Parts: sequence; C-alpha cells; structure tokens
Amino acid sequence: MWIIIAFFLFLLAGIIVLLPFFKPSAPSAPDEAVDPKLLALYTRRDQLYQAIREAKFDLDTGKLSPEDYERQVTRLKRQAASVLKAIDKREANLVPPEWDEQIEEQVRAERRGRTAARPVMVTAPAAATAGPARYCPQCGTRLNPGDRFCPACGARVH
Ligand SMILES: [Zn+2]
Repeated sequence: MWIIIAFFLFLLAGIIVLLPFFKPSAPSAPDEAVDPKLLALYTRRDQLYQAIREAKFDLDTGKLSPEDYERQVTRLKRQAASVLKAIDKREANLVPPEWDEQIEEQVRAERRGRTAARPVMVTAPAAATAGPARYCPQCGTRLNPGDRFCPACGARVH
C-alpha cells in the first residue's frame, strides 16, 4: 500500500517540478527575461518564411499553378511584413540591459556633477572669508572680502 502512496507522491512531485515547462501559453510575467510575445512573433515569422519556401517548392514540383503560387506568396509576404512590423515595434520597446547600464551611468554622472557643483559654490565664499583679514591702508577699516574700495573712506584697495 505505502508503495502506491509513495509512487503517487513521487508522481505529484514530478508533475509540480515539470509543470512550468508545459505551459507556454501562460500569461507572461512582466519581469521575464525573454518576451514571450516577441518569441511568438519570431515563431510566426519563421512559419511564414517556411510557408513561402514550401509554396516555392510546390510551384517547382507542379503542385501549385503559377497563379496560385503568386496569390499564396503575396498573402504570405503581406502577413510576414505585418509580423516583422510587430517585431520591430516590440523590439523597440525592449530596453537592452546595456542601455539600462548606460542610463544608470548617466544618472550617476549627473548626480556626481550636482554634488560636485554644490561644494564649489559653498567653498568659494568660505575660502574668501577664511583668507587673511584686509584693512584699508588709508583709514584702517576692516574690508569685506572682494572689496576693491574701502567702504568707509572710498580709498582704492588691492
Ligand atoms: Zn578707508
């Protein structure tokens, strides 16, 4: 009896493990590495190319009349064109990982630039005030940093 139970447990475990491999039509997770809709489009494109090749073969072997071949291939090529357009559109929406990396690098550079610019603006006046105090050679009034004329007597200072 326990052998049967063990067997079914084993079977159940096997089903659970293998289940993900048997649902290709399952709704796609947004974070999936490969876009299943894009894969489906690739498959469709390949099928259409294959059908075009087969039509050519059928024409060569006389299974298709040139008119039928023309009609079929025109239809297949039109379908293939729309599939290719859909592929282009979907591929354009995909952001390759290296682009992600580039964008992140750009953001980091911008952030660096911003944090680098801030201390420059802060340290410029700070460095001026930290410099040696200057006094007017005429009246001895203490000068503000950057003063070119004495604020008290108006004498030119260096
Ligand atoms: Zn002065």
